[in-house]
Amino acid sequence: MKRKYLFLSIIFLFVLPGYVFAKPVKIQIVPRKIFPGDAFLIKIKNLRNKNTPVALINKKEFAFVEFGKGCYIAIGAIDINARPGKYKIKIKSGNSNFKSNLLVKRKIFPSVSLNLPDEKVFPSDDDLKRIQDENIKMNEVSGLITEKKWEGNFIFPLENEISTLFGVKRIMNEQWTSIHKGLDFKGKEGEEVKASNNGKVVLTEELFYGGNTIVIDHGLGIYSIYMHLSRIKVKSGDEIKKGEIIGNVGSTGRATGPHLHFGIKLNGINVNPDSLIKLNI
Ligand SMILES: [Zn+2]
Repeated sequence: MKRKYLFLSIIFLFVLPGYVFAKPVKIQIVPRKIFPGDAFLIKIKNLRNKNTPVALINKKEFAFVEFGKGCYIAIGAIDINARPGKYKIKIKSGNSNFKSNLLVKRKIFPSVSLNLPDEKVFPSDDDLKRIQDENIKMNEVSGLITEKKWEGNFIFPLENEISTLFGVKRIMNEQWTSIHKGLDFKGKEGEEVKASNNGKVVLTEELFYGGNTIVIDHGLGIYSIYMHLSRIKVKSGDEIKKGEIIGNVGSTGRATGPHLHFGIKLNGINVNPDSLIKLNI
């Protein structure tokens, strides 16, 4: 009898806790409330199966990466045109499914009026064709999901004052409107521009609107874009470290003066760079 109780006690102490007291899977969304165009983190803890999870939000998939045993992290984003409200986050890992949600708050983006030379606002047919081709190329180079290259927080490429915020509606020559899909930093011609994180250069080209442009792939669907540069110091295929000098501020393309346009794309979504930089990763 005694032996039997001892045996049961051993089972209770060493075997059962693993099942009965296993920590439940914990999903954390940081921040839980965002604005359209913002990035956010999805953190998973205590996931015991070995399948790397995938998150589905607003019909887009976001890739996770493992950070220690059973812990995963993904960077998600919501499009600037997304309606305010509650969004479901579905997470799939092997045969297991988990759910969470995210609140997208309403935001009124400001409007500004600009006056530029007419040819920069109303492109010719040839220029329109060029712009179209460049947009296709841009979407192609920033549309792939490659392995993670970023390490830790993203940084601003220039520490200057911001002149135009993300999401600003710009009314040009009183007729043409466009939404600003990045941040504009004030800058002096020639000032050094740094890479926002580790990555691989995937485009260095002179674009109609963007002028001299660099695109860096940071992996897991995240790309950073640097426009209007006077000089490009890297080439396609180069592997870049966070903070490395990649070019100089200029006023090439559609620009009223020297400044840096800094954009972030995540799974094809134009993201407010400020929201990505604020994430503690
Ligand atoms: Zn800009």
